Amino acid sequence: MSIEDVLPEAGQDGPLYAALTQLDDAAELIGLAPAIHQKLRKPKRVIAVSIPTLMDDGSHQVFTGYRAQHSMERGPCKGGLRYHPDVNLEEVIAGAMWMTWKCAVVNIPYGGAKGGVICNPKEMSQGELERMTRRFTSELVEVIGPEKDIPAPELYTDAQTMAWIMDTYSMQKGYSVPAVVTGKPTVLGGSLGREAATGRGCVFAIREAMCRLGLPLTGATFAVQGFGNVGRWVARLLEPLGLKLVAATDSQGGCLNPDGISVEALVEHKVQSGTVVGLPGTDRITNKELLALECDVLVPAALENVIHQGNAGDVRAKMIAEGANGPTTPAAQEILNDKGIFVIPDILANAGGVTVSYFEWVQGLQAYFWTEEEVNERLEAIMVRAFEEVYAESQARNVDMRAAAMAVAVGRVAEAQRMRGIYP
Ligand code: NAD
Repeated sequence: MSIEDVLPEAGQDGPLYAALTQLDDAAELIGLAPAIHQKLRKPKRVIAVSIPTLMDDGSHQVFTGYRAQHSMERGPCKGGLRYHPDVNLEEVIAGAMWMTWKCAVVNIPYGGAKGGVICNPKEMSQGELERMTRRFTSELVEVIGPEKDIPAPELYTDAQTMAWIMDTYSMQKGYSVPAVVTGKPTVLGGSLGREAATGRGCVFAIREAMCRLGLPLTGATFAVQGFGNVGRWVARLLEPLGLKLVAATDSQGGCLNPDGISVEALVEHKVQSGTVVGLPGTDRITNKELLALECDVLVPAALENVIHQGNAGDVRAKMIAEGANGPTTPAAQEILNDKGIFVIPDILANAGGVTVSYFEWVQGLQAYFWTEEEVNERLEAIMVRAFEEVYAESQARNVDMRAAAMAVAVGRVAEAQRMRGIYP
């Protein structure tokens, strides 16, 4: 039996198919050695565990959890943990692969991982979630750790989940190990600046891109799809640079004012009403309309596959900065290229989050904590350098920024693998 016998099929429209296609394209572009290419097409390790959990009614439910570790060539694995009924192995493996490229493109010393538990957290009590998380952690205790694999929050997991994982792992080791997870509460060693980090990193990338393209910042317009953590911080931090928010949406719809929307007023309105819809002085707009809006910068910061073959032709923004993971399908990217729209791809545009997670890990290992200013300065240095490297690659190879980011990332992992050799 080979690893293929247990790995899921890469279904045509699925995330694994997309991840493998991107890798194959990058391999062709950079002339990747076949042995390394074949190795990188497969995860290093996939773990499936049963998680028997005591429920509040006294019964036991056995959940299934996964952790995929794609690559450890450049350092320990890093990636989120998702609690959702739709978690599946295909998505987990693809996610691990994307994390490898994201860490490599910003040149932080990690490989990629991803994990999840098939469960419905909305129907579970805090006690049930805690017991499930602790049992899941103890099943993973031999394969995670500060030098092996460092989980982080993702969909429906949060700082509390990370605190339970850190505590369970520490109890089993017999001493406190804060660096086993990132995204912890600050009282347990979480990094200052983490909450805003993904949005902040995205703003650094947008600023660099606008400078390269000769687009003035002052008076430039932008629209945000998804006014959650990433979208809200992008808006908050673009405004002081002189850009003007003209539209924003969330799952209920959106608001538009071509003359500009005050970001803080919108944040306050969303806190009060639960949605961006209905901000006084704005018109209602749909998500479809937002994507077709004429503006300088469009920031999809909600879901994957929102810009696709069917609507990419309608996009009128000059630039797209992918705050979300995978918002643009490969077919849409080709249409955007034909229209001359500059896309800052997800593995670069939203890498600020994992970069500050890396800072949290470094601070935890040293037990020495930085100020928020230090965190933000170091984040800026990494994002600016990564943007410059990807932009230079795109110019040198005459390819779009996504292909360039993949070429840089896969090239770095491949070079690490080449120098180490394939054991034994
Ligand atoms: P979030 O849950 O805080 O916000 C998501 C927002 O999207 C919410 O405002 C929600 O109402 C909105 N939304 C949901 N469905 C929508 C729809 N159909 N149309 C428009 N808006 C919709 O999540 P987040 O942390 O901001 O993450 C957003 C995206 O960024 C995800 O793709 C995530 O994987 C990616 N990302 C997040 C981070 C991070 O650090 N938070 C890091 C890297 C990538």
